[in-house]
Amino acid sequence: MAHERCEQCGNPTAPWDTIHCGSGDGSYQLLCTLCFNARIAESTGFTDFENVRLDPIRMIDCGGESHRFHFQLRLLGDRIALDAFELRGELRAGYRFQLIGEADADVLVLLGHLVEKMRRALSVRHIDFLERQIIDSTVRGRIEWDESQDGHLPLVVVDGKEVSWNDLGRMLMSMEGWQFRLDIADPSEEL
Ligand SMILES: [Zn+2]
Repeated sequence: MAHERCEQCGNPTAPWDTIHCGSGDGSYQLLCTLCFNARIAESTGFTDFENVRLDPIRMIDCGGESHRFHFQLRLLGDRIALDAFELRGELRAGYRFQLIGEADADVLVLLGHLVEKMRRALSVRHIDFLERQIIDSTVRGRIEWDESQDGHLPLVVVDGKEVSWNDLGRMLMSMEGWQFRLDIADPSEEL
Protein backbone atom coordinates (compact mmCIF):
# COMPACT_ATOMS: atom_id res chain seq x y z
CA MET A 1 0.00 0.00 0.00
CA ALA A 2 1.38 3.41 -0.96
CA HIS A 3 2.40 5.78 1.77
CA GLU A 4 0.46 9.00 1.91
CA ARG A 5 2.02 12.36 2.60
CA CYS A 6 1.27 14.19 5.82
CA GLU A 7 -0.40 17.47 4.82
CA GLN A 8 1.56 19.30 7.51
CA CYS A 9 5.19 18.12 7.29
CA GLY A 10 4.99 16.49 3.84
CA ASN A 11 6.66 13.26 5.01
CA PRO A 12 5.47 9.99 3.45
CA THR A 13 3.66 8.18 6.26
CA ALA A 14 2.40 4.60 6.66
CA PRO A 15 -1.42 4.34 6.83
CA TRP A 16 -1.33 3.12 10.45
CA ASP A 17 0.64 6.22 11.44
CA THR A 18 -1.79 8.77 9.96
CA ILE A 19 -4.83 10.45 11.50
CA HIS A 20 -7.69 12.24 9.75
CA CYS A 21 -7.88 15.48 11.63
CA GLY A 22 -11.07 17.51 11.39
CA SER A 23 -10.90 21.29 11.37
CA GLY A 24 -13.51 23.85 12.35
CA ASP A 25 -14.77 24.35 8.79
CA GLY A 26 -15.70 20.66 8.42
CA SER A 27 -12.78 19.72 6.21
CA TYR A 28 -10.35 16.91 7.00
CA GLN A 29 -6.60 16.83 6.81
CA LEU A 30 -4.42 13.76 6.74
CA LEU A 31 -1.69 14.20 9.35
CA CYS A 32 1.10 12.01 10.62
CA THR A 33 0.79 11.16 14.33
CA LEU A 34 3.53 13.61 15.37
CA CYS A 35 1.92 16.53 13.49
CA PHE A 36 -1.51 15.55 14.86
CA ASN A 37 -0.16 15.63 18.43
CA ALA A 38 1.63 18.94 17.85
CA ARG A 39 -1.62 20.45 16.63
CA ILE A 40 -3.60 19.15 19.62
CA ALA A 41 -0.85 20.31 22.01
CA GLU A 42 -0.99 23.79 20.48
CA SER A 43 -4.78 24.04 20.68
CA THR A 44 -5.09 22.61 24.21
CA GLY A 45 -1.97 24.18 25.72
CA PHE A 46 -0.49 20.83 26.83
CA THR A 47 3.00 21.83 25.73
CA ASP A 48 4.65 19.52 28.34
CA PHE A 49 3.41 16.54 26.36
CA GLU A 50 6.27 14.27 25.17
CA ASN A 51 5.62 13.96 21.44
CA VAL A 52 7.78 10.92 20.76
CA ARG A 53 7.85 8.10 18.25
CA LEU A 54 8.41 4.71 19.89
CA ASP A 55 10.38 2.01 18.09
CA PRO A 56 8.66 -1.32 17.40
CA ILE A 57 9.44 -4.24 19.70
CA ARG A 58 9.31 -8.00 19.29
CA MET A 59 7.68 -10.27 21.86
CA ILE A 60 7.30 -14.05 22.02
CA ASP A 61 3.96 -15.58 23.05
CA CYS A 62 3.54 -18.69 25.20
CA GLY A 63 3.36 -20.85 22.06
CA GLY A 64 6.80 -19.63 20.94
CA GLU A 65 5.41 -17.43 18.18
CA SER A 66 7.07 -14.07 17.58
CA HIS A 67 5.02 -10.86 17.40
CA ARG A 68 6.24 -7.45 16.24
CA PHE A 69 4.41 -4.56 17.90
CA HIS A 70 4.25 -1.00 16.63
CA PHE A 71 3.26 1.89 18.84
CA GLN A 72 1.17 4.99 18.35
CA LEU A 73 1.00 7.72 20.97
CA ARG A 74 -1.86 10.19 20.60
CA LEU A 75 -2.66 13.30 22.56
CA LEU A 76 -6.43 13.43 23.07
CA GLY A 77 -7.26 16.63 24.92
CA ASP A 78 -6.06 16.21 28.51
CA ARG A 79 -5.28 12.52 28.12
CA ILE A 80 -2.95 10.40 26.04
CA ALA A 81 -3.65 7.08 24.39
CA LEU A 82 -0.81 4.65 23.82
CA ASP A 83 -1.64 1.87 21.35
CA ALA A 84 0.39 -1.24 20.54
CA PHE A 85 -0.57 -3.32 17.54
CA GLU A 86 0.64 -5.80 14.97
CA LEU A 87 0.50 -5.15 11.23
CA ARG A 88 -0.54 -7.29 8.31
CA GLY A 89 0.94 -5.50 5.34
CA GLU A 90 0.37 -1.89 6.37
CA LEU A 91 -2.88 -2.46 8.24
CA ARG A 92 -3.48 -3.23 11.89
CA ALA A 93 -4.26 -6.88 12.52
CA GLY A 94 -3.70 -9.41 15.28
CA TYR A 95 -3.08 -8.37 18.87
CA ARG A 96 -3.94 -4.84 19.92
CA PHE A 97 -3.44 -3.14 23.25
CA GLN A 98 -4.20 0.30 24.59
CA LEU A 99 -3.49 2.32 27.71
CA ILE A 100 -4.88 5.74 28.59
CA GLY A 101 -2.91 8.20 30.73
CA GLU A 102 -2.89 11.84 31.74
CA ALA A 103 -1.45 14.26 29.16
CA ASP A 104 1.59 15.03 31.35
CA ALA A 105 2.31 11.36 32.14
CA ASP A 106 5.81 9.98 31.65
CA VAL A 107 5.53 8.16 28.33
CA LEU A 108 8.20 5.59 29.22
CA VAL A 109 6.36 4.69 32.45
CA LEU A 110 3.16 4.29 30.46
CA LEU A 111 5.04 2.18 27.91
CA GLY A 112 6.35 -0.02 30.75
CA HIS A 113 2.78 -0.63 31.98
CA LEU A 114 1.58 -1.36 28.47
CA VAL A 115 4.39 -3.88 27.86
CA GLU A 116 3.47 -5.63 31.15
CA LYS A 117 -0.13 -5.81 29.99
CA MET A 118 1.02 -7.24 26.63
CA ARG A 119 3.19 -9.82 28.39
CA ARG A 120 0.24 -10.95 30.53
CA ALA A 121 -1.94 -11.33 27.43
CA LEU A 122 0.71 -13.18 25.41
CA SER A 123 1.23 -15.64 28.26
CA VAL A 124 -2.33 -16.99 27.93
CA ARG A 125 -3.91 -19.02 25.14
CA HIS A 126 -7.67 -19.40 24.89
CA ILE A 127 -8.16 -21.42 21.73
CA ASP A 128 -6.41 -24.54 20.43
CA PHE A 129 -6.38 -23.63 16.74
CA LEU A 130 -5.33 -27.14 15.65
CA GLU A 131 -8.11 -28.91 17.54
CA ARG A 132 -10.41 -25.94 16.95
CA GLN A 133 -11.58 -25.88 20.53
CA ILE A 134 -11.64 -23.62 23.55
CA ILE A 135 -8.79 -24.63 25.87
CA ASP A 136 -10.27 -23.69 29.24
CA SER A 137 -13.58 -22.05 30.08
CA THR A 138 -12.65 -18.43 29.29
CA VAL A 139 -12.22 -16.70 25.94
CA ARG A 140 -10.91 -13.13 25.74
CA GLY A 141 -10.78 -11.26 22.47
CA ARG A 142 -11.75 -8.27 20.41
CA ILE A 143 -14.82 -7.63 18.28
CA GLU A 144 -13.98 -6.64 14.71
CA TRP A 145 -15.62 -6.04 11.37
CA ASP A 146 -15.99 -9.11 9.15
CA GLU A 147 -15.67 -8.02 5.50
CA SER A 148 -17.60 -11.10 4.35
CA GLN A 149 -20.58 -10.43 6.67
CA ASP A 150 -21.48 -6.85 5.77
CA GLY A 151 -21.90 -5.89 9.43
CA HIS A 152 -24.35 -8.69 10.29
CA LEU A 153 -21.91 -10.90 12.18
CA PRO A 154 -18.73 -9.95 14.01
CA LEU A 155 -15.26 -11.28 13.50
CA VAL A 156 -13.49 -11.89 16.78
CA VAL A 157 -9.75 -11.81 17.34
CA VAL A 158 -8.59 -14.27 19.99
CA ASP A 159 -4.92 -14.96 20.81
CA GLY A 160 -4.09 -12.45 18.05
CA LYS A 161 -5.86 -14.61 15.45
CA GLU A 162 -9.09 -14.00 13.56
CA VAL A 163 -11.99 -16.35 14.35
CA SER A 164 -15.26 -16.14 12.42
CA TRP A 165 -18.50 -15.99 14.39
CA ASN A 166 -19.45 -19.38 12.88
CA ASP A 167 -16.20 -20.97 14.00
CA LEU A 168 -16.61 -19.58 17.51
CA GLY A 169 -20.16 -20.97 17.54
CA ARG A 170 -18.91 -24.39 16.49
CA MET A 171 -16.36 -24.36 19.32
CA LEU A 172 -19.09 -23.45 21.79
CA MET A 173 -21.20 -26.43 20.70
CA SER A 174 -18.80 -28.79 22.46
CA MET A 175 -20.17 -27.19 25.67
CA GLU A 176 -23.85 -27.45 24.89
CA GLY A 177 -25.95 -27.00 28.02
CA TRP A 178 -23.28 -25.02 29.86
CA GLN A 179 -23.83 -21.43 30.95
CA PHE A 180 -21.82 -18.45 29.77
CA ARG A 181 -21.31 -14.79 30.60
CA LEU A 182 -20.53 -12.15 27.97
CA ASP A 183 -18.69 -9.05 29.22
CA ILE A 184 -17.87 -6.15 26.92
CA ALA A 185 -15.00 -3.85 27.87
CA ASP A 186 -13.38 -0.67 26.58
CA PRO A 187 -10.18 -1.23 24.50
CA SER A 188 -8.00 0.17 27.30
CA GLU A 189 -9.49 -2.03 30.06
CA GLU A 190 -7.83 -5.24 31.14
CA LEU A 191 -10.01 -8.30 30.61
ZN1 LIG B 1 3.55 15.30 9.67
